[in-house]
Amino acid sequence: MFYDVVIIGGGSAGLTAGLYAKRGGMKTLIIESLVAGGQINLTGEVENFPGFLSISGYELTSKMLDQCTAIGVDFIYDEVTEMSLIGEEKVVKTKNETYQTKAVILGMGARPRSMGIANEEKYIGGGLSYCAHCDGNFFKGKDVVVVGGGNTALTDALYLSNICKTVYLVHRRDEFRGNKILSDKLKEKSNIILKLNAVPKAIIGKNKIEGFTITNKITNQDEDLTIEGLFVAVGTIPNNNLIKESVMLSESGFIITNENMETNVNLVYGAGDIRAKPLRQVVTACSDGATAAADIIGKVI
Ligand code: NAP
Repeated sequence: MFYDVVIIGGGSAGLTAGLYAKRGGMKTLIIESLVAGGQINLTGEVENFPGFLSISGYELTSKMLDQCTAIGVDFIYDEVTEMSLIGEEKVVKTKNETYQTKAVILGMGARPRSMGIANEEKYIGGGLSYCAHCDGNFFKGKDVVVVGGGNTALTDALYLSNICKTVYLVHRRDEFRGNKILSDKLKEKSNIILKLNAVPKAIIGKNKIEGFTITNKITNQDEDLTIEGLFVAVGTIPNNNLIKESVMLSESGFIITNENMETNVNLVYGAGDIRAKPLRQVVTACSDGATAAADIIGKVI
């Protein structure tokens, strides 16, 4: 089957790319392996997508999917197993079919790295979040923990310090991986309490988080922090397995693009969380998808 553009990944980047590509007159296919919407489905209420005071992640992406299919975007659930991206005719193989296309948009997303402690996943939606910008507002005036020492953890702690009563920043070393300018800012915030050389041990609470146990690596002492929110910011893992050999990636494995979302391979684009960029949000994923599709339109039809 032949398409003008094949979009891999039906998250908010892929769905927006599909919308713009089809409206621009391209024969468009989106291939999604699991659930349309991607990571945003992990978020209960989205309160920072313009136009909606509050909407569930599931509802928001359902609307995006409906909008795509209503205008004639082909959307299929299948798993891409192989891609040949070099040359004029690109080939995308799935478990069930082979597609030829002039252009490919890679929107396979990324997943948050977990802390690796017992039952972590059980508390998603019960106080544990991988996205401070998405969920911070639910913890207004409450005590929370941020885990991590990179730029995400530092910006999350600063962001939450304006919303929450106390923010404990738990980091496993005594130096931050994140920028000095951010770590200096942390020290100016009286409601951010640093817990350094400390590793996560256990979450306290039956179904909802009531506390968090950390272990000091120097003294080997445990400490229980009474909190309601736990923000995990220990890195993001790009879903790059299929493209490791074909597209230029950053040191941490994210796709490097220019401002038009073009990769180093002609008519192959990166969009959304899989792309190297500073802010991974639905709104920036949508922006990437629109930008990529708009750039392709003038080149393939
Ligand atoms: P990151 O830089 O990889 O940092 C992850 C942090 O989590 C590190 O401090 C690491 O500790 C810690 N960690 C990893 N596994 C852990 C575990 N199991 N338990 C406890 N701690 C653990 O990830 P990131 O902060 O998400 O940043 C990703 C990229 O996006 C970076 O390039 C960053 O600069 C960029 N970014 C930029 C901005 C900005 O410019 N404003 C904002 C956000 C992100 P160690 O340090 O000990 O390894």
